[in-house]
Amino acid sequence: MRNTTGPSVSALGHLDIDLSEDDAAFAEEWSTWLDAHLPAMQDKLISATTEAEKRQLARDWQAQMAAGGWAAIAWPTEFGGRAATARQQLLFYLTSAERRVPPLAGRIGLNLCGPTLIAHGSPEQQQRFLPPMLDGRHVWCQGFSEPEAGSDLASLRTRGIVDGDTLVITGQKIWTSGAQHSDWMFALVRTDPDAPKRHGISFVLIPMTAAGVEVRPIRQISGDAGFNEVFLESVRVPLRNVVGELNGGWNVTRTTLANERAILFLGQQMALRATLNKAIKQAGTPDRHGIRAAEDPHLRDRIAQAWIDVELVRLNGLRNLAKVLTGKEPGPEGSMSKLFGQHVEQQIHELALDLGGEFAILDSGAADAPNRGKWALGWLRTRASTIGGGTSEIQRNVLAERVLGQPRDPWADA
Ligand SMILES: Cc1cc2nc3c(=O)[nH]c(=O)nc-3n(C[C@H](O)[C@H](O)[C@H](O)COP(=O)(O)OP(=O)(O)OC[C@H]3O[C@@H](n4cnc5c(N)ncnc54)[C@H](O)[C@@H]3O)c2cc1C
Repeated sequence: MRNTTGPSVSALGHLDIDLSEDDAAFAEEWSTWLDAHLPAMQDKLISATTEAEKRQLARDWQAQMAAGGWAAIAWPTEFGGRAATARQQLLFYLTSAERRVPPLAGRIGLNLCGPTLIAHGSPEQQQRFLPPMLDGRHVWCQGFSEPEAGSDLASLRTRGIVDGDTLVITGQKIWTSGAQHSDWMFALVRTDPDAPKRHGISFVLIPMTAAGVEVRPIRQISGDAGFNEVFLESVRVPLRNVVGELNGGWNVTRTTLANERAILFLGQQMALRATLNKAIKQAGTPDRHGIRAAEDPHLRDRIAQAWIDVELVRLNGLRNLAKVLTGKEPGPEGSMSKLFGQHVEQQIHELALDLGGEFAILDSGAADAPNRGKWALGWLRTRASTIGGGTSEIQRNVLAERVLGQPRDPWADA
């Protein structure tokens, strides 16, 4: 990847990538924009006390990012993006991870639904849905999983019946992240029950305010209610809200997101290093008894192992990225990244708890809680990461088949 003469950018730090003049100018512009806008937003987030306040700030931040042209850099310029190259997206996510840029309120819409609408939506759908998705006026959730359809998504049973120019939808979605705070849901519904599993499904845009939509938050071990059950009872949606062909939804969902995902995912993984560095810093600071965890040889070993693991995650992510940058389809490296990256994420939180000793299990309400209680919360939250977005077992199946040449998973064929 070393082929240009431009300057390097500090965010890359340990990465061995030289930049073209264009890339460097892009990175510089992003960094300068952050200098001007990020500190004020970080101050506001620190002083926000309620979840509602934080959610509003996430929408405000998205509006600011959109005004600066940073909310969806991979989108084409005609839709408010920057048509950023893979390399520029990488720079963007690395800097975002390094500078702890707050997440956007509408990232599910921006990362999943937006590119789908850009690839498959009608001009009318693009005009209507993309601008408010971009600036955070409309936050979206993803209604794919159902009680009997998760890993095997094509088994979904929520029905959509055509009635004139309307689709009448009845069924249930589950694990729908953020549904209780969303304005719209993009959902998969079965519109032809007689067609083979993957052929009778449509991709539909449903307003969360429609009559017959009921959202029930699910409380998790962490105390959060990050996801929900969504019940749909005879919900009437105009047929013009179907994206792509009726019954063609499976192909619509397969939109070429893989490239963007590879880059986005690498950026997220880079955040692991920041988390580990925080834990290491804590290990070097004497606790209230004057003991530094970093002096314990066993814990020192685990810190070293965690450092090596994060490095492995990075190298594998780069291997995946190298394919994307050279125009190849991302391969099973993506499964490896997810499987191993999320294992490492869990390990780091476990290590942080051990480094913090007995105080580390205190939550944010306790004055003595290290890292303002975030270690305990993070440990609980990362239990879910080996399930969402494709479980670890499914990633292992992919690796068994595509890397080790094992026979196909018989369940998948069924
Ligand atoms: C934090 C989080 C956020 C989520 N957000 C959303 C969202 O916004 N929208 C949405 O639609 N969904 C969302 N999901 C749901 C997620 O996509 C599903 O949980 C996931 O696909 C697994 O499906 P399932 O829960 O039905 O488990 P199942 O598919 O029923 O799996 C149960 C167990 O069986 C194993 N298993 C299943 N099939 C196989 C196989 N073929 N071989 C070996 N083992 C197998 C699984 O690995 C798992 O251990 C979210 C999940 C989480 C954890």
